[in-house]
Amino acid sequence: MVLAEKSSFKIYQRVFDKYTFKTLAKMVDKKYFTTLDFPISTGKEADVYRVTTKTGFAAVKIYRIETSNFKAMQNYLIGDPRFTRIKKSKRGIIEAWCQKEFRNLQDALKIGVKVPKPIAFEKNVLIMEFLGTKEGSPYPLLKKVSPKNPEKLIKTLLLYIKKMWKANLVHGDLNEYNIVMKNQTPIIIDIGQAMSTKHPYAPELLKRDLNQINKLSKKYKVKIDTKKIYDKLIKLTN
Ligand code: ADP
Ligand code: MN
Repeated sequence: MVLAEKSSFKIYQRVFDKYTFKTLAKMVDKKYFTTLDFPISTGKEADVYRVTTKTGFAAVKIYRIETSNFKAMQNYLIGDPRFTRIKKSKRGIIEAWCQKEFRNLQDALKIGVKVPKPIAFEKNVLIMEFLGTKEGSPYPLLKKVSPKNPEKLIKTLLLYIKKMWKANLVHGDLNEYNIVMKNQTPIIIDIGQAMSTKHPYAPELLKRDLNQINKLSKKYKVKIDTKKIYDKLIKLTN
C-alpha cells in the first residue's frame, strides 16, 4: 500500500499512533521507501515490516511507543558512553534505543559480523537491508530450519561472538529467534540491547549468549566448551 495515497494513508493513520505515523510519512518524503508492504513480525517491543524502495525491498523496524519496556531499555542505556545525553521521556528513551540499534548494526558490520545493513533511522523507526529473496520472501529464522552443517554453523556463531567481544560489543540476546538463515549463512539481528564489553552487565550478557550457543550445540550434538571461551574472553577485558 502506498503511504502517499489517500486511502492507505487513512488506514495507516489508524494502525499507528500519531507520532509513528508522522515519522513514517517523513521517511516516505525522504524517499527511504515508497510503500509499506506487510508485517513480517509483530512483537511486544517492535513490529517489522517489509517495505518497497526504488531499488527493491527494505525492512522497517518500528519500536512501539506504548508497550515498550522503556524502564528496561533505560537500564541498558545507562553506562553506555555513546549515550550520555538522553531525554528522560518515554519517547526520548525509545528514540535513543532505535539509534543504539542503528549504531550497533554499523559497528557489527565494520568488524565483519553478518547483520542487515543499516540504512537510516528516524525517531522510533529503523530502516535496514531486507533479509530475503529477490522476490521478496523473508529468509527463515534459525528456529525454523535444520542446518546442513551444524558444526560449521556453531563455529561461525562463536566466531561472531568473539569478533564482537574483541571489538567491544556483546549482543546479549543471541538465540534461534534472532538469527536469520540466508541459505546456510547465519545473519544476526535484533542488536538493540547489545552493549559495550566495558559495561558492568557485559560479562552476564556474554554468559547468556554463550549459554544459548551451548543449548544449540546440544540440540545439534556438536561438542564445544563455552566455559573455556568465556574465561578467555573475560581475560581480554580485565
Ligand atoms: P523483536 O524481536 O524485538 O520483535 P527483531 O529485530 O528480532 O525484533 O525482529 C523481529 C522479526 O522480524 C525477526 O524475527 C525476523 O523474522 C524479522 N526481521 C527483523 N529484521 C529483518 C530484516 N532486516 N529483514 C527481514 N526480516 C527481518
Ligand atoms: Mn528478536
